[in-house]
Amino acid sequence: MNKIEHIGIAVKDLKIANEVYTKLFGTPPYKTETVESENVSTSFFKVGESKVELLEATNPESAIAKFIEKKGEGVHHIAYAVDDIKAEMNRLKKEGFVILNDAPKRGADNKLVCFLHPKSTNGVLIELCQEIK
Ligand code: ZN
Repeated sequence: MNKIEHIGIAVKDLKIANEVYTKLFGTPPYKTETVESENVSTSFFKVGESKVELLEATNPESAIAKFIEKKGEGVHHIAYAVDDIKAEMNRLKKEGFVILNDAPKRGADNKLVCFLHPKSTNGVLIELCQEIK
């Protein structure tokens, strides 16, 4: 794993959260994107080398809606950049981590992504992401 690519934060209202984080960072999101397959709307802020992703559920079936229902708004996942997501998935599977998807899937911000179940990572949902070139 190369670096923390971004931190994902679950929010109830993306428009309001965008205003808060624009004030916080002094600069607006560089990208907003809806990922239909994940039932989320997202926005991305650059923070030096890293990014912050805000996620709002687009419908009640969204994992973000369920997360907020259970835990409220807050840090939802930490994403690490990898060069070869399939190789990392195989390596981590062998190490006993629970990977939530069998194959990498298309995520926001031009990435292939997969998630590790928090029960195998001390309560933190982890995303691996590989830039699509
Ligand atoms: Zn993410």
